[in-house]
Amino acid sequence: MKPGKVVVIGGGVVGASSAYYLARDGWSVDLIDQGVFGAACSHGNCGYVCPSHVFPLCRPGAITKTLPLALRPNSPFAIRPRPDLRMLAWFARFAANCTTAKVHSTAAALNDLLWAAKRCYEEIIREEKIECDWQKDGCLFVYRDRHHLDAFAGENDEIQRRFGFSAKRLDGPSLAALEPVLREDLAGAWHFECDAHIRPDRFMAGLRAALERRGVTIHEHRAATAITGDGPGVLQTTRGPMRADAYVVAAGAWTPLLAGLIGTRLPIQPGKGYSLTGPRPAGCPRYPMVFEEHRVAITPWKSGFRIGSTMEFAGYDDSIREERLRLLTDSAKLYFREWAEPTFDERWYGWRPMTPDGKPFIDRSPSRRNVLVAAGHNMIGMSTGPGTGQLVADLLAGRAPAFEPAPFRIGR
Ligand SMILES: Cc1cc2nc3c(=O)[nH]c(=O)nc-3n(C[C@H](O)[C@H](O)[C@H](O)COP(=O)(O)OP(=O)(O)OC[C@H]3O[C@@H](n4cnc5c(N)ncnc54)[C@H](O)[C@@H]3O)c2cc1C
Repeated sequence: MKPGKVVVIGGGVVGASSAYYLARDGWSVDLIDQGVFGAACSHGNCGYVCPSHVFPLCRPGAITKTLPLALRPNSPFAIRPRPDLRMLAWFARFAANCTTAKVHSTAAALNDLLWAAKRCYEEIIREEKIECDWQKDGCLFVYRDRHHLDAFAGENDEIQRRFGFSAKRLDGPSLAALEPVLREDLAGAWHFECDAHIRPDRFMAGLRAALERRGVTIHEHRAATAITGDGPGVLQTTRGPMRADAYVVAAGAWTPLLAGLIGTRLPIQPGKGYSLTGPRPAGCPRYPMVFEEHRVAITPWKSGFRIGSTMEFAGYDDSIREERLRLLTDSAKLYFREWAEPTFDERWYGWRPMTPDGKPFIDRSPSRRNVLVAAGHNMIGMSTGPGTGQLVADLLAGRAPAFEPAPFRIGR
């Protein structure tokens, strides 16, 4: 398709990155958001840009080991039981994806997308001169229990065998030497040196400035509702109609609510997570790290500090639950030699757009060829957003993409 007029629906990292690559291709881009640009899930996440997170959540054992945890109080993984047939159907599909063969094919697709996105970050940050605390120190997967540390060796070997990179194993004393703020009696860690991290709010602010420099018009508090009419159709929004040659739907966890516009209801559930953000505390670690046994992540930046994670399936529940936030600090303090409660000036939640097979949908709508969907980026949307944006531009241009797009098709 020749560049013409395009409307991008959704101002998260996926929509903004799509707008960026489309503007670079010569499209005249309008981006609309029902709220504020960059203020949803792409705002308070942990900022890991992590090829290490190549294996999806659905894997053999996920149902038998993880689901029972969801019923325990204070578990990082929680399901709020509700009479919700769509959520039950989602879990049934999730269970069907927990086979070794499916995990390996998903990981191969995600590996392509993760590395493409990391290259896009390098390019965007350099070319647009975005100040976002981009650091390439890698990421630590930290363990208290030696059995759990040892058990990751199998996954690490698998990553090396399939994708040609792996983590370096650190025993307890080596970890304490690398990161002296951690307790000496931890079992150790795996260090993925290939990972990077950013400050998501600053990246989104820098990307917004880059979009505006490139002529993209951003409309906030304007929600898409439908596409009507024949041919390219007219986008109906809460602030009046918009006409374009093509439309990109990047509405994150809200995407299933646009089923009429897309022509199918995509199986995406909101997976709620929390974060706490403040200035760097005394004894701030140098490396971003995941405390694997508690599923809690720490992100240190030059400009601040964040603790985040937990996963709750509770529909579109927008309350902030104190006990979920407390879980973050209660877990994190078990790993530090000294823990003076940091000051947090932002308490945040976000809805991850969760798909049952761990892959996003990046494809044309089944009912309108000029509507492209880019949604369902699970727990790695910050890591994969720019790679998705580049793929969206390639698909609209009819260009051969840098990697195989078939695994991301809607009808897979
Ligand atoms: C606690 C936590 C930590 C995380 N940490 C990481 C991490 O370290 N690394 C990583 O890679 N990922 C991480 N993630 C996941 C990542 O944040 C998400 O996958 C990613 O932000 C999704 O981006 P998105 O653009 O699809 O969605 P969003 O950022 O949610 O953007 C979607 C946008 O669409 C808009 N919208 C919705 N409906 C409409 C409509 N009808 N009309 C107009 N606009 C609409 C919304 O207002 C919103 O702004 C984390 C998530 C959480 C919750």
